[in-house]
Parts: sequence; C-alpha cells; structure tokens
Amino acid sequence: MLIETHAHLDYPDFAPDFGDVLCRATDAGVTRIVTIGTSVASSRRAIEIAEKYPNVYAVIGVHPTYAGEAKEDVITPLGELAQNPRVVAIGETGLDYHRLPSVEAAKGKKVQVFSRVLQGETEEEIEAQIHDGAYKSKQASLFQQQLDLAIELGLNVVIHQRDAWDDTLEVMRPYSGKVRGVFHCFGGTIEQANEVLGLDHLVSFTGIVTFKNGANVRDVAARIPLDKFMVETDCPYLAPVPFRGKRCEPAHTRLVAEAIATARGVPLDEIARATTATAEGFFRFTR
Ligand SMILES: [Zn+2]
Repeated sequence: MLIETHAHLDYPDFAPDFGDVLCRATDAGVTRIVTIGTSVASSRRAIEIAEKYPNVYAVIGVHPTYAGEAKEDVITPLGELAQNPRVVAIGETGLDYHRLPSVEAAKGKKVQVFSRVLQGETEEEIEAQIHDGAYKSKQASLFQQQLDLAIELGLNVVIHQRDAWDDTLEVMRPYSGKVRGVFHCFGGTIEQANEVLGLDHLVSFTGIVTFKNGANVRDVAARIPLDKFMVETDCPYLAPVPFRGKRCEPAHTRLVAEAIATARGVPLDEIARATTATAEGFFRFTR
C-alpha cells in the first residue's frame, strides 16, 4: 500500500484515459492519490476530482510560477475552497527562480548581451532586473499568504522550491514550529535535507531517484531517517525509469518506492509502510 503524495490529475494530459490511470494506480498498490492544485482554477478542479473518487484527495494553492498571472486576492477563494473536507493541505506554494524575467530577456538577446559585456549593463538588462525583483516579491508575498492561511486552517503545506533555496528557507523561518512543510521533488544535498528535517519539515522524492544521473538524490533518500520522507511522482512530469520521457502517472509511485528500497537495502514493504504512515500524519485525511 502506497500513497502518491503529489500528482497533477487535473492536467489535460490525463483526460483521455483518466479511469485507466486510476485503475493502474490501484493495481500497482497505490491506494491513495493526493492531487495538487497550481492555481485557483486548478485547485477547484482538484477538489472536483477528489469529490468524485474516494481514493483521491486535494491540496489547494497557487504555484509560484503563476505569480505573474494570479489575481490580487487568491486567499479568499482558497480559504473558501479549503472548507471542503476533501482538502488535505495547502500548496503547492513556494519560490521558483528558474525562469526569471532577466533570464528570459537574456535568452532572446544572447548576442547583444555577450558583445556588451565590457560596456556594463544594457538598458534591457537593468529593466529585466527590476522585473526580477517585482516577480520575486510577488512570489514571496503569495507564499507568505498561503503559509498564513495554512496556519489559520491548521493544515500543512506542500512546498515547491527551484533555484531559490536560501530565500525559501528565509521566508519559512518565522513560521517554524507553527506549520510543517514538505519540500516536494527534493533534489538537494544531504546537508540541505538535514536543514529541512531539523526545522521539523519533510521531503518527498520523485522518479529522479530512478535516473542514472540521480545518484545524489538516491543517496539522500538512502541516508535520511525512514520516517522523514514521502513518495510522489509529480506526474505528468518526471516519469521514472523505464518510462523516462513519457507521461508519468500515479502508478509509477511504486517504482519510486522500489528504487528507494533498493538504495536502502530494505524490502519495498518497509518503505511502503513508513511513507504511508508519514503521509497519514502530514495530510489531513478525514475519510
Ligand atoms: Zn507539482
């Protein structure tokens, strides 16, 4: 019995064969699926799915990469949606600096940027940096608001962090002891994992633990305490080996758990039991 703790079942990728996707998960021993909202609309769809299928639960939130297009007030609708008993946590929220406006601007102007290196910054670059600042503070504000909402509701938080490690921990620091987070799709070092666990948060692992170039993550999954992590797929992304590059789905949670079991030298059953107990403690499953 496994719990898939991070799926995006509301994405159109699953529309053509939704029923089969759920059947394959059950067949693989994945008995519960947590589907994650990435915007208010996506959160609403996540709840609709969770209301329809008894083994699916919803996490609702606004993903940091939606910061640009998010409405001024996302907390009122999220707070209303959170009253639904199928909602088991808030998220995914956090910080993502992977595609900052300055990076995007530089991509389109690679040649000019290169030729002007010696002359200092171009006007476009300076402007892009101003946009970066605004974009980052919008993300941070959305993140804080969702952390506050989670505390108000007594729910935990699913954290998305990409290329923003220090700032993410900085935002979370004042919330220590008030709310717990899971750093989903963990890809950091053992030191970073220990930092997170030291603050009483959790991590969760995706199919990256099955990748040839996933040795570092595999090693972290092998070394941290058994009761401090969960398993997930982040589907439709990050399909584990041997499905790498294809659409990922919740059934693949089993491959993630198997890879961790192998890395730790323990039976799959032990990983299944421990990660299920951890997920049951973290998410508010009421039925
Ligand atoms: Zn996700």
